[in-house]
Amino acid sequence: MTLLGTASDIKLINDDGLRLDGRGFDELRPIKIEVNVLNRADGSAYIEWGGNKILVGVYGPREAYPKHSQNINKAFVRARYSMAAFSVDERKRPGPDRRSIEISKVVSEALESAIIVEQFPRAEIDVFIEVLQADAGTRIAGLTASSVAVAAAGIPMRDLVVGCTAGKADGQVLLDLSKEEDNFGQADIPFAILPKTGEVVLMQMDGDLTVEEMSKAHSMLDKALKHIYNLQREALSKSFTDVVAQWGE
Ligand code: UDP
Repeated sequence: MTLLGTASDIKLINDDGLRLDGRGFDELRPIKIEVNVLNRADGSAYIEWGGNKILVGVYGPREAYPKHSQNINKAFVRARYSMAAFSVDERKRPGPDRRSIEISKVVSEALESAIIVEQFPRAEIDVFIEVLQADAGTRIAGLTASSVAVAAAGIPMRDLVVGCTAGKADGQVLLDLSKEEDNFGQADIPFAILPKTGEVVLMQMDGDLTVEEMSKAHSMLDKALKHIYNLQREALSKSFTDVVAQWGE
């Protein structure tokens, strides 16, 4: 098996029908979420999702600055996605670029759909997403961790945002693409919802899929999102149990 070749002739599924990392088509990479990992943030979270390692700090709601950015009816959410220079195989030039600006925008909008922003006129909520190690699916992992960090900050929300990717590689519809599948595959769909209502708050797509493949991807996502939503809630309830346990000491 080799990774050399063109996107269409690369073998990403082995003869036993498994992916290069040994997963089945609808299998997630391991996910671990930890809450309240930063002392000075109002809320924070750390997520490991496969090889992704991402830290999120939430600050606010606080009076929006500069004043002309204030909205008299609601708070605005400013997420800043940032990828460390050595988070990837080939050093990334530090600082914002078109990709990080785009990701910051779509993540801000997804979070704003979940937060009850009307309760905080003239305020801003800052969300810093620091990608320390990247391995495909960082926008979704960052968004999933961000919504946990916002909840940990005690900011009122309609629901958590939960996300996952699906796509197509080596001609197969797959859940939660790995780096090779993302790089050499035929489609990649980052997808995020508010689970209580099913409202889609982020959906992007590279590549192409048939209607049947899209519907297969959606049913894989549906099952995975339920699982990830449980992980988010477990991480939050564990952080509260830890706080309550400290009071008893
Ligand atoms: N990547 C990279 N260098 C970059 C940007 C991305 O090596 O400057 C890698 C990184 O592992 C990332 C993956 O490519 O996770 C896929 O990037 P994409 O833009 O699809 O976003 P993501 O899947 O991380 O949300």
